[in-house]
Amino acid sequence: MPRKLADRLSAVAPSATLAMAAQAARLRSQGHKVYPFSVGEPDFEPPRHVLDAAKAAIDKGVSHYTAVTGTPELKAAICAATERDRGYRPAPNEITVSCGAKHALFNVALGLYEPGDEVVIPAPYWVSYPEQVRIVGATPVIVETREDQGFRMDAASLERAITERTKAIILCTPSNPTGSAYAESELRALLDVVRRHDLWLVVDEIYADLTYDGFRHASVPAIAEDLRSRTIVISGVSKTYAMTGWRIGWSITPPELSKVLDIVQSQSTTNATAVAQVAAAAALSGPQDAVREMRDAFAKRRDRMVEGLRSIPGVRCRMPEGAFYAFADVRGLYGIPSPNGTIQTDLDVAMWLLEEAHVASVAGTPFGAPGYVRFSYACSESDIDGGIEAIRAAVTASRGGG
Ligand code: PMP
Ligand code: GLU
Repeated sequence: MPRKLADRLSAVAPSATLAMAAQAARLRSQGHKVYPFSVGEPDFEPPRHVLDAAKAAIDKGVSHYTAVTGTPELKAAICAATERDRGYRPAPNEITVSCGAKHALFNVALGLYEPGDEVVIPAPYWVSYPEQVRIVGATPVIVETREDQGFRMDAASLERAITERTKAIILCTPSNPTGSAYAESELRALLDVVRRHDLWLVVDEIYADLTYDGFRHASVPAIAEDLRSRTIVISGVSKTYAMTGWRIGWSITPPELSKVLDIVQSQSTTNATAVAQVAAAAALSGPQDAVREMRDAFAKRRDRMVEGLRSIPGVRCRMPEGAFYAFADVRGLYGIPSPNGTIQTDLDVAMWLLEEAHVASVAGTPFGAPGYVRFSYACSESDIDGGIEAIRAAVTASRGGG
């Protein structure tokens, strides 16, 4: 008899984004060129001054524990950057610095959700939201959105999903995986629903600095002061400053929740890495030119990726407002014969693209969106061009044209 494991994880799926990245790494280790459209990770280096600050910190002996929820310097930098970039100023006792935004979200899940609670999540959603809710024994309630409405949840759908068990709503804007973002007026309509109910609002703003064509991101606390006592903002340095491996993210929450998050973190990971906190503070406080340069580069890559995908017969793709993902409807590729049988699902498409075109992507199903595939364009323009041509060649060959 195998020894028993915790039931808690029996209904929880592993991260599909990381799983696809691991499959791509396996092919690469066999010597193949693999087009890297799976994991959402900028290919840029962090700004030079950030790396210099981290090196200086090592030489100065920044090697010890810090306050559990972050150094005063980093918290001050987060408060100032939030005021500069998001239009409101949180207090240091509202900040909890964690080992990445994923960890910040997980701490919030531990601090808030209980068995019996429902957490409303619009689909398509980032893979980790429903799974974190399940890990702590609560129930994700998924609200479908439509591509022709920009994958944005409207107020009436949100209202319908709320019950007396609803503990929280998780919004992601700009969104992973669709790149859709809520305009201020759309957000305000959702906030009116939130006002009518007793629940928490979690807003993941990790892509807020990455919006294109002049789209203006609106931060909930800046436009709804009255909701600050129940709004939780999640952010971090991973995407804006290309610092995924430094593992610094944070939550901005009312102080009574910060106190609970301090307890959760003091009994689990203690503080985020001390040197990484110095690097994050340097990123937030230093010159922001690199952020603009990276955003401009992402804007060009977005156009290239979306136009490339649209040029492939059988693929449709909406132009996203932000983040670095193109979310394509691939149902037009169903029916293509593949070595494993005829393609019938988005999971088949993603696997076929990996095997036949050496293009790593992530199927829509784990994001709650069957029929779609996510293509990350956080890679070079030549990789985008090469990957698109590889997809085109595979599709053409499969239709007897190659
Ligand atoms: N939220 C969203 C929407 C994401 O796409 C990611 C992906 N990295 C995260 C949170 C977590 O970011 P990190 O843990 O690297 O700060
Ligand atoms: N968030 C990124 C993605 O969706 C990184 C992977 C992860 O953290 O799951 O690809």
